[in-house]
Amino acid sequence: MRRSRAFIPTTKEAPSDAVLASHIYLSRAGFIHQVASGLYSYMPLAKRVIKKIENIINEEMAKVGAEEVELSFVTPASLWQESGRIDKFGKELLRFKDRKENLFVLGPTHEEMMVDLVRNRITSYKQLPINLYQIKTKFRDEARPRFGLMRGREFIMKDGYSFHAYEEDLDREFSAMERAYKRILTRLGLDFRVVEADSGAIGGSGSKELMVLANSGEDTIAVCDKCEYGANIEAATRGAVEIPEAPEALFNKFQTSETSSIEDLAEFFKIDPYYTVKCVAKKLVFEEDSEVVLFFLRGSDNLQEVKALNATGALEITDVTAQELEELGLETGYIGPLDQDRAKHVIDSDLKNATNMVCGANEKDYHFVGVDLSIISEVAYFADISEVHEGDSCPHCDGKLSFTKGIEVGHIFKLGTTYSEALKAEFLDENGKAKPFIMGTYGMGVSRLVAAVIEQHHDDSGCIWTKETAPYMVNIMISNIKEVTQVELGEALYTRLIESGVETMLDDRKERFGFKMKDAELIGFPYTIIIGKELVNGNVQIFDRKTKEKISVDKNEIYEKIMELL
Ligand code: ATP
Ligand code: MG
Repeated sequence: MRRSRAFIPTTKEAPSDAVLASHIYLSRAGFIHQVASGLYSYMPLAKRVIKKIENIINEEMAKVGAEEVELSFVTPASLWQESGRIDKFGKELLRFKDRKENLFVLGPTHEEMMVDLVRNRITSYKQLPINLYQIKTKFRDEARPRFGLMRGREFIMKDGYSFHAYEEDLDREFSAMERAYKRILTRLGLDFRVVEADSGAIGGSGSKELMVLANSGEDTIAVCDKCEYGANIEAATRGAVEIPEAPEALFNKFQTSETSSIEDLAEFFKIDPYYTVKCVAKKLVFEEDSEVVLFFLRGSDNLQEVKALNATGALEITDVTAQELEELGLETGYIGPLDQDRAKHVIDSDLKNATNMVCGANEKDYHFVGVDLSIISEVAYFADISEVHEGDSCPHCDGKLSFTKGIEVGHIFKLGTTYSEALKAEFLDENGKAKPFIMGTYGMGVSRLVAAVIEQHHDDSGCIWTKETAPYMVNIMISNIKEVTQVELGEALYTRLIESGVETMLDDRKERFGFKMKDAELIGFPYTIIIGKELVNGNVQIFDRKTKEKISVDKNEIYEKIMELL
């Protein structure tokens, strides 16, 4: 491509709300244009990067025997009613009616559509397994679209779905897909980690996220310093903790004025907060209504909100007001799990059978001491609702957990029969018995990947594309367009590289050298061949965008040299 004809509107100004490098540079370097909140147009450079990512995905999917399809973006709301997800998805689903008053939604993900495609077409175990995917625009009316391509409302996703007759076959496919996803990210030149993820309300064991490691990532992941264990903090668990010395006391009610915080309470009794019971009151929003729920944990722990949602099946978790607690007759700072009949409550599994505890007596200024929680272990509801801490021990070895930030670029999930049952999608097994398909789902954020590459590969001057993602590998810079020898060499080299299949840009603009160079750095071509002043001595230079090093090369050897680098 000739730069003089290319549509690459680079600018000095970044969008006013841009904080992430990828948002800033992709906008400034003329890759993307924001149309409205969370809506972007892809300009030619972005389109090239997206195509490259798609090609890699297609190649890797072919290797595992997945086939590409394309489902319509506009999806009938009736399918969402069938699966029961229409309400669960809430406001993220953009709904509208056509001229005949039929209700539709813009597809945020396509489980229902894929099940609908397959049901009644695949009818026998002999036709299984199959794995179908598409690379397609998705729409989610995100509450807070932000960070450019990272969290758009309209975005591109690769979404795949597999159908199986047996659990074991899903397990095999899931592993094959995990390996395929790893190969995709490795080829893209990304540093990533596969972590255990929250399985949401559906539950189950097989849910893994592919996280590109970057400080700007929105997800916190806990990783073990010794073994392979890694988990999203929403799902992370820990091994045995070091237990502080227990404060032994007989069961008793104690006056404890001015001890409404855990710190004050621990200080009052001179005990480790580990032996106190903390109450976190939250308002939970369910499909039909909302309700105050109490979460009891050790004073040394914090509530993990996603775990809290899973434990209760709620859709949303919000704060409670003092008034709401008062109306229920709950005394802030003194709420405890014993004889708790004023509000629904969940107790952290770590407290099951805990002894020597101090907890609120459900009466202002009073706490119980010497509490043995095993007395309610049969009647109360226990669930894992606490968040792991940095430094906690690994659940699988004696290593320690540390936190790092990640960008979720992929999510693979063993769905089981949730959707096939809801949508009555069945096949006949060997014995002629009708059974729902066992399913897996495999998502990858294609447009988010474009941003993730830049989050991991940029510097103060702009983008640094990896070899597999670069919109053009080589940029030939004719420093002074008025110098005939420079132009001749540039043109000849350009033709030769193009003929060799190298994606090449020829900067033939009538602009200052410094300006063109800055532009090249901002866009991030891996290599720029500078044809400039040194040509009189028979030399040109190769500028390596990543290292910013320039090497001089004899003009007669430049073609061989650049081909060698590529
Ligand atoms: P997140 O937790 O980031 O909101 P999600 O868990 O809702 O994502 P999935 O339903 O698992 O997303 O979708 C599969 C993939 O699609 C994600 O791993 C992510 O890479 C991508 N994705 C999801 N939402 C967006 C978005 N708003 N903008 C860009 N990519 C997205
Ligand atoms: Mg996800």
